[in-house]
Amino acid sequence: MDTFIGPIGRLINQFTKLPGVGKKTAQRYAYKIINMSPEEAKQFAECILDCKNKVRYCSVCGNFSEEETCEICKKRDHNTICVVKEPKDVIALEKLREYKGVYHVLHGVISPMDGIGPNDIRIKELLARVGGVGEVIIATNPDVEGDATAMYIAKLLKPLGVKVSRLAHGIPIGGEIEYTDEVTLSRAFIERKEI
Ligand SMILES: [Zn+2]
Repeated sequence: MDTFIGPIGRLINQFTKLPGVGKKTAQRYAYKIINMSPEEAKQFAECILDCKNKVRYCSVCGNFSEEETCEICKKRDHNTICVVKEPKDVIALEKLREYKGVYHVLHGVISPMDGIGPNDIRIKELLARVGGVGEVIIATNPDVEGDATAMYIAKLLKPLGVKVSRLAHGIPIGGEIEYTDEVTLSRAFIERKEI
């Protein structure tokens, strides 16, 4: 019998909602939870609720934040904006400790195949921010969608007199910022090219 009912079945079903988690893994997770002490299980559940209740998107850059404005937007130089696809890209770039500017998280890239157009990601919000900004660095992934999105944004920003650059070579074509090693990513950042 591989159909679980009752609380175990419901928990397994919840775990299968997570990316990369199949039925087998979901079962393993569920068993692990059953074997936790009540205190541990309570902490686990509370962490999930805490994330939901306390974490939101920064009203300026769209990154995760516990407040209206995130720590990066509060403290850093707004003369440079680095545009990324997702919050996890901010984490990858922050690890380099190279960059002193702020970010703009698009929450996606233009992808006609998936029905995602320019209005479905945070491009309008970017346009509203760029007045007086010295440079916009586009750090979307070097794949078809990432490149198309970079070009689209560059075309909108150029007439506004904003310098637009793109991370340089080094990141493998089709690769992801998130999985690029720090030395390569750092070099791509420093050697970024104006587009
Ligand atoms: Zn922010």
